[in-house]
Amino acid sequence: MDAKPRLVDSHAHLDMPEFDPDRAETVRRALDAGVVAILCPADLTRAASLRAIAALTQEFPAILAAAGVHPHQAKDLTPDHLRELEGLAARRAIRAVGEIGLDYHYDFSPAEAQRRALRSQLAFASGAGLPVILHSRLAGADIIAAVDGERFRGGGILHCFTEDWATARAMVDRGFFVSFSGILTFPKSGALREVAARLPLDRLLVETDSPYLAPVPYRGSGRRNEPAFVVETARVLAAVRGLPLEDLAEATARNFAGLFPV
Ligand SMILES: [Zn+2]
Ligand SMILES: [Zn+2]
Repeated sequence: MDAKPRLVDSHAHLDMPEFDPDRAETVRRALDAGVVAILCPADLTRAASLRAIAALTQEFPAILAAAGVHPHQAKDLTPDHLRELEGLAARRAIRAVGEIGLDYHYDFSPAEAQRRALRSQLAFASGAGLPVILHSRLAGADIIAAVDGERFRGGGILHCFTEDWATARAMVDRGFFVSFSGILTFPKSGALREVAARLPLDRLLVETDSPYLAPVPYRGSGRRNEPAFVVETARVLAAVRGLPLEDLAEATARNFAGLFPV
């Protein structure tokens, strides 16, 4: 029997209530599908979120935890959140700060509050020596300005990439990995696939962003996305790169291991 490709899901919200009924089984299905690591960003503004992710990291060595205040909740960021991050980093309970960033599409928090929250968490990550998981929606230029403004050199992941080539290139130049979600599999994502074709192979990652953004062929079926489905995005990325799935999967797994050594 063929060995399964070694896959990594670089971004999954397994803390969400959508997974309350079967969180551990969801991880087991991913492991059975060949997923060797799943990075789970906890939402610091929700106590249940961190609890759920911490429980998973106890049970499964394949789960890596991150924590941060998402741009949607940026207006709620307090010094307590930064203190909590400090405690988590000191206990080595998190491997990254995130997700943090800017979302000018939804604008759930005022743009100025988003930029402040991003800058303060970048500064924290810098001091703690942790990479960051960045969320950027219609905000590429301001993300780059924040990274440069903080002189942030810790690298990390630009997750669920939907920005343009110039943003991708600039972030790679700053030591970041670019992670593609199920959006890469959507018929209308031609421009995104062009960016994916041009980036250096050693900077690429794939993710599900579960429970959102189920890739084709699950998209539109009303199905919840889950880490086992990351293979569908890897399949499209492999086709775009003209590589066998196994080689693409192995390259992204290696990239992830470089960022998060065991
Ligand atoms: Zn995000
Ligand atoms: Zn996310």
